[in-house]
Amino acid sequence: MTTDVTIIGAGLGGLTLARVLHLHGIPATVYEAEPSPAARSQGGMLDIHDYNGQLALQAADLMDEFRSLILEGRQAMRILDRDGAVLFEEPDDGTGGRPEVQRGELRQILLDSLPAGTVRWGHKVSSTRALGEGRHEVTFADGSTLDTSLLVGADGAWSRVRPLLSTATPEYTGKSVIHTYLFDADTRHPAAAKAVGGGSMLAPTPTREIFAHRERGDTLHAYVGLTEPQEWSAAIDFTDAVVATARIAQAFDGWAPELTALITDTDTAPVLRPLYTLPIEHRWDRVPGVTLLGDAAHLTPPNGEGANLAMLDGAELGEALAAHPDDIDAALTAYEQAMFRRSAEAAVEGAEREERMFGEGTPHSLVDAFTAHERGH
Ligand SMILES: Cc1cc2nc3c(=O)[nH]c(=O)nc-3n(C[C@H](O)[C@H](O)[C@H](O)COP(=O)(O)OP(=O)(O)OC[C@H]3O[C@@H](n4cnc5c(N)ncnc54)[C@H](O)[C@@H]3O)c2cc1C
Repeated sequence: MTTDVTIIGAGLGGLTLARVLHLHGIPATVYEAEPSPAARSQGGMLDIHDYNGQLALQAADLMDEFRSLILEGRQAMRILDRDGAVLFEEPDDGTGGRPEVQRGELRQILLDSLPAGTVRWGHKVSSTRALGEGRHEVTFADGSTLDTSLLVGADGAWSRVRPLLSTATPEYTGKSVIHTYLFDADTRHPAAAKAVGGGSMLAPTPTREIFAHRERGDTLHAYVGLTEPQEWSAAIDFTDAVVATARIAQAFDGWAPELTALITDTDTAPVLRPLYTLPIEHRWDRVPGVTLLGDAAHLTPPNGEGANLAMLDGAELGEALAAHPDDIDAALTAYEQAMFRRSAEAAVEGAEREERMFGEGTPHSLVDAFTAHERGH
């Protein structure tokens, strides 16, 4: 195949696609809005599953590099109630099948595996349009344009490629997450560090939740979730970190201090992230010369699968293009059929799990789900 594949977005999905294409000798260029690989902290830990994310890393021939990133012990998990009582605890015995790595480090091994110049940083796409006969024009924020016979939107929730295929737009889920970080936690924030333990900690109620991970070193990264309309967070001035932190902490009035410390003791300004979703089972009719992967195709509320699915999409699209070098449309059809089915199943299961574990009965419903799982039910 001689077509230069144009990929928009250097997230985990777009980079996995570029890597698998490279392994098959297919040229690709990735256009990324951010000015450099270090422009934004990639934050967060991801558990990479043996049934999707790890399959993608195998296709990318990066399993050794991936293994070197695994943070030992981080599959340990505990569930606390809002008073700080430990309701459930599971150690990391190495059999979890969901090793944890830092997202930024995973992205870096993908970047390092690509020929120099594959990613064009500082190329924010502002619009796309069809030119006919499977060709598309991409316009960048600086006014420059390119046209391509194979365009892949790997540009996340607010994809500028998606309008070529679908009228769907993300809708607010009713929940927002605030990110905080506590550094050198064992010495500087010992009560919070003890509450989080060695891996992840979940303290959910039906409308409020504090989840936290122990990242590399003894950094605690907390995800503070609130079920509130967007007007609620819009009324908070996030440019004033002190005021914003106090307002969020107020929403957790009465919670155990070692849990609220994950808000009040933050070493970084709190970052608000409203959660959006595309309709479950979002799909489109085949349009020659263009497709989507990852969040651009199937954004859901966080359910532990999004990055894993984005990588598998990238790997499978790359392999489909390699398998049909003379027939791009056959490749896109094969890829999309499998991707639509897989992402719809994951979205339905994710929504059911959310309702069952984090609905009205949480945290006890969450504990029940884990103890049933431990008993093999
Ligand atoms: C709070 C939270 C927790 C999560 N936890 C997990 C988890 O534990 N496990 C998991 O598997 N998933 C998790 N996810 C989901 C996961 O983050 C996403 O599903 C995943 O990042 C999707 O990858 P992607 O490559 O499709 O898109 P992205 O990671 O969003 O990458 C898109 C890329 O495109 C670039 N871009 C965007 N617009 C443009 C433009 N106009 N022009 C050029 N470039 C552009 C962006 O800068 C970015 O680099 C979580 C999500 C959230 C919000």
